[in-house]
Amino acid sequence: MRLTSRLLAGALAVIGVNIVVMTLIVNVQLSGRLRDQAVDALTRDARMVASHWADGADAYNVARQDGSSLGHRVTIIRPDGVVIGDSDFDREGMAQMDNHATRPEIVAARTSGVGVSTRTSPSRGDDELYVAVSAAAGTVRVSLPVYELTQRVQSAKQAVVIAGVIALLVALVLAAALARRIVRPVVELSEVARGIAAGDLARRAAIDAPGELGELSLSLGDLSSQLATRAAARDAHETLLVQLIESLNEGVIGVDDRRQVVRANDTARRLTSVAAPLPFSADLLPRNAVLRGALESAFSGTLTEGVETQIDTYTMSVSARPLAGGGAVLALLDLTRLRRLEAVRRDFVANVSHELRTPLTVIGGFAETLTHDDLPEADRRQFVNRIVLNTARMQRLVDDLLDLSRIESGGWVPTPTATDIVELAADAFAEVHDAAAAKGLALVTEVDADAQHVTADPTALGQVLRNLVENAVRHTPAGSVTVFATREPSGAIAVGVRDTGVGIEPEHLPRVFERFYRVDPARSRQEGGTGLGLAIVKHLVEAHGGNVRAESEPGRGTTFTVRFPNGV
Ligand code: ADP
Repeated sequence: MRLTSRLLAGALAVIGVNIVVMTLIVNVQLSGRLRDQAVDALTRDARMVASHWADGADAYNVARQDGSSLGHRVTIIRPDGVVIGDSDFDREGMAQMDNHATRPEIVAARTSGVGVSTRTSPSRGDDELYVAVSAAAGTVRVSLPVYELTQRVQSAKQAVVIAGVIALLVALVLAAALARRIVRPVVELSEVARGIAAGDLARRAAIDAPGELGELSLSLGDLSSQLATRAAARDAHETLLVQLIESLNEGVIGVDDRRQVVRANDTARRLTSVAAPLPFSADLLPRNAVLRGALESAFSGTLTEGVETQIDTYTMSVSARPLAGGGAVLALLDLTRLRRLEAVRRDFVANVSHELRTPLTVIGGFAETLTHDDLPEADRRQFVNRIVLNTARMQRLVDDLLDLSRIESGGWVPTPTATDIVELAADAFAEVHDAAAAKGLALVTEVDADAQHVTADPTALGQVLRNLVENAVRHTPAGSVTVFATREPSGAIAVGVRDTGVGIEPEHLPRVFERFYRVDPARSRQEGGTGLGLAIVKHLVEAHGGNVRAESEPGRGTTFTVRFPNGV
């Protein structure tokens, strides 16, 4: 039941009980008092009649006259009980009346002066209140029908009930108004409380009432500000946590006890290729035995630490630990780059060993042969030449390796200055002059006037051009090798070497900048190549913030272009 109805019902119950109690009181009190008053009045009347009769008047007439003047029945009885006057009966009627000597009121009047009795009248047949007084010549009795008294009580009761009903209606209106005044703030407070529960923490009750409701309203306000403060603190904490998790290099995946993924940072999403929005079922995680096994172990309370596995293209170390609440947290450490670098290093060591072994074997063999005393002079000279040649080859390899490692380790930094490309091209051409002349190659310089100077480290750019020109001459049987330089609209300078040689097949083109990568290893070695030339070019150019590109048409020629971001 609603509060207003309950308050109204309460008020109605109180008033209703009041009316019932008042009616009962009226009934009891008024009946008693009315009877007493009636007895007093009847006693007075009886005495008056007695005084009239005492003057020697005729009892019959006295009874008739006083009866009609009083409006009550008046009966006059002789001491022997015979009725000698009665206002309600004539002489004939009286003759038929019983002897009244034993009537209780008459008996009482005779003994104590006044007698009162309420009973059914044998002569009239209704309930009567009799009052008898003793007189000089007998007894005078005056009576009143009881229903007259009852009627008066009844009408008083009716008045009380009417007053009660009016009071009830007035009270109802007042109670309704009062209830609304009490209930309105209660309803408002309950709405505010519901709002707070739903998260509307800025909501306040517009109640300025004194007393308990006002205090309740203030407490509710305090409660929501405290909740807001706590919510803000919790949000800040949550944000910090998310930022922390997001900033981790490790992939972190939080799974709750219902196997729902409730957290996954960007690294984890990248490593597992899961893009579903949170929360999502752990079933969506990759079907990798190590990952699933670690997760299951964590769910059964067992820790898994650093088990390596491959998921798609990623190599990762998977750890899983159980959470206190029954869930699990997976940590994925991306080892892809590390393992790739390790593989590169392994290959590199193998490559270097391989490159050094051949000349070393040759040198060792010839040196041993030279120890024989009976070796003809011509052979001895040839063997020494082979030893010198292979030593030079090893020397080049070691020099290139040292250059590469110096650049890669960051021990070398370019010192960019305005560098003349035409000069560097001439130097590079001078070094290959003999080899080019032997093949009849034309060495051409095509440097635009506005591209002659570039901001670069002169030694580095010199080495770049030398390596590219050497390669070009080596792989060009006939035609020309051209050093060119142009200025791009952005201001960047493009320097390159173009040849009309054998070219590079498309499948080899993207790999020629890798260390020790050769299209034809045997030929390269034979021609004195180390397989490191283009790797050195790439590193030198990138150290300048530039880039290098290779384009080739097999059988027609190759162009290597180096872009330096800054001209002069
Ligand atoms: P190398 O010492 O073998 O020349 P590089 O790193 O300089 O090593 O070059 C790698 C490979 O790229 C070479 O072995 C060769 O096969 C290819 N290459 C380089 N320059 C050219 C070119 N101008 N024309 C054809 N092939 C080339």
